Amino acid sequence: MEREALLSGLVHPGDREPAPGSLRAVQAFVNTVDREHGPDLLDDPAGLEQWLERHLLPASVGAGDLDAARAVREALRALLLANNGEPHDPGAQAVLERAARRARLEPAFPPDGAALVPHATGVDGALGRILAAAFAAMLDGSWQRLKACPRDVCGWAFYDRSTNASATWCSMRVCGGRVKAGAYYRRRRAAGH
Ligand SMILES: [Zn+2]
Repeated sequence: MEREALLSGLVHPGDREPAPGSLRAVQAFVNTVDREHGPDLLDDPAGLEQWLERHLLPASVGAGDLDAARAVREALRALLLANNGEPHDPGAQAVLERAARRARLEPAFPPDGAALVPHATGVDGALGRILAAAFAAMLDGSWQRLKACPRDVCGWAFYDRSTNASATWCSMRVCGGRVKAGAYYRRRRAAGH
């Protein structure tokens, strides 16, 4: 995939609509890598800085920030896989809770709606805004529809607008078709998914 496509957050296989509201930033952050073909925007500080700038979370990237960002991204992906029927990942939960503490997320009570607001600056604060958006989505129910594609080399985050939230693949054409005949599909069917 083109680097620009990952930066834009506008690539949605299967002509899906993106996630609603601030959940869109969470989706775009998880989709900062094309795991099958590359690139990975979080391979270098400039890529993370550019992505943050494009998504209105500007921060300069220092030592350790790339590792932290990648850890948060993959922990979010693990939660999105759990939204798609994979087992809960306690390690991923712990990564997000640690990142939320580093971001110093604190509740705010403005008249136009309560929210968690990061009090840390820099990348920790920017990651905090992404985590706050995920947290808000968990409370309003939209989170359950944000899923990661379970094909192992894919993992793309997509928003499932199907009536019963029953979509599995980022795209039936891209991933569903390739997997359907394989062991993964038989295993899921055996498990009743
Ligand atoms: Zn996929």
